[in-house]
Amino acid sequence: MDTNPDLAPEETEEEVVYFDELDIADEVLDALDDMGFEKCTPIQAQAIPPSIEGRDVLAVAQTGTGKTAAFLLPILTDICDNPPTKVATIVLTPTRELAMQIDRQLEGFSFHMNASSIPVYGGRDGHSMAQEQKALKGGAPIVVATPGRLMAHLDMGYTDLSEVRHLVLDEADRMLDMGFVNDMIKIIDMLPKESLQILFFSATMPNKIRKFSRDILKNPVEISIAISKPAEKIKQKAYNVADWAKNALIEDILREKTKTMDRILIFCGRKKTVRELTRRLARKNPKVKDVSSDLDQDEREERLRQFRSGAIQVVVATDVLSRGIHINGIDLVINFDVPGDAEDYVHRIGRTARAAAEGEAITLISGDDRRRFKAIEELMEMKVERLEVPERLKDKGDDRGGRGGDRRRGGGGGRGRGGDRRGGGGGGGRGRGRGGNRSGGGGGNRDRKPRAEDDNKDAPRSERSNDKPRQERSGGDQPRDPNRKQRGRGRGRGRGPKPSSSPEE
Ligand code: AMP
Repeated sequence: MDTNPDLAPEETEEEVVYFDELDIADEVLDALDDMGFEKCTPIQAQAIPPSIEGRDVLAVAQTGTGKTAAFLLPILTDICDNPPTKVATIVLTPTRELAMQIDRQLEGFSFHMNASSIPVYGGRDGHSMAQEQKALKGGAPIVVATPGRLMAHLDMGYTDLSEVRHLVLDEADRMLDMGFVNDMIKIIDMLPKESLQILFFSATMPNKIRKFSRDILKNPVEISIAISKPAEKIKQKAYNVADWAKNALIEDILREKTKTMDRILIFCGRKKTVRELTRRLARKNPKVKDVSSDLDQDEREERLRQFRSGAIQVVVATDVLSRGIHINGIDLVINFDVPGDAEDYVHRIGRTARAAAEGEAITLISGDDRRRFKAIEELMEMKVERLEVPERLKDKGDDRGGRGGDRRRGGGGGRGRGGDRRGGGGGGGRGRGRGGNRSGGGGGNRDRKPRAEDDNKDAPRSERSNDKPRQERSGGDQPRDPNRKQRGRGRGRGRGPKPSSSPEE
């Protein structure tokens, strides 16, 4: 997979794989729709099809590439097709933080199906050990565990492993480095050999990992995701800024930059933000225009032509343009919010510094976006310089979301397709799924959507019922990208292409 941001847009766009083109269970696709996940990341595009076919997978992919969904979606699809009565899936992961993260994503992806999972990790009180024991005895279909803690349970002999059919080793290199190799081998030895599918994920592939993988995998599909790095000539900078101060900050930046720069491109995660921000900025500078999929193709091309000619100085856009735009001489890219993943970030900022030119990229990071941006930095293996927010725009407390700025719910300003879409209402996500009646507790549809990330993550999940009618789940009546071919769902389970909310909305 070519990840060069300087690829011609046409070539890049052809690589896009949509989840609903894959043979993923409808229940899982519904959850993806709700969460605003539409396009596969490269690891997902490559790992999901062979995993659904039941092949073993050996993947080199780091955190931030979407690897969690890459292994969870095929497993959930299988669980939908063949509902288990005992433990069916074990996900081994090196740390409790990762176990919690995976479990949270699992909660989102399995929102519309009956699948309970139990996170099993050490460092908690006796109560949680008892809770884990109960869930393991009861045959929770999916167990997400650190190897040591799981082994402590298995040693006590109450877990029936006879129907385990999927084993995921997540960050296998780290598990080996942390000395879990014996526990891992012991666990693997306790699982049914014949029917076991192993999905082996590692951030690196040194010899000892390759050898270990050879010992346990059967004819695996091998996938290696090269992480794109932004061009060195792009000067990257970022502000940690409270949500309420973002509009004022971007006005400051533009006031300064438009004095010397001819072409500035601002990316926002959602069309709504594009509209609002454009309206605001255009009041002060009539050469600010938006370009989003709200415009038809001709209008978009006309705006871009004017951008090229200099008639428009600042374009505010959604990610529709992050891969598609082919304009030389963009001096500055501003990320009004942090994009969903590193790949998108690299594509967005790659719109500047094309050919021999130098370019600048400024990212506004608020609230929950901080964690996401940190993951992007880790993936790029570089730390982006932080700039000081002007004194008057400094937050006295933490993100307050007040003071008349961009008072968006959730305070994240994300692109709405990642897992960080927190609704405003109370109630931890997990609690919501537990009691069956998910429609209670106030809040509209949005509050009922699964969240890949939430705070209440320790308790095991019990069985869920799918209580939301299909039509309600579609989450809007906007067609996806209008340029995109309408595709049916891969599995042909009787649902035609359904309208869904665009990630940009
Ligand atoms: P991971 O590499 O699995 O830790 O995922 C990194 C982040 O990307 C998580 O917050 C996911 O919720 C998010 N993510 C994963 N796959 C996608 C996708 N296809 N579209 C949007 N966000 C995604």
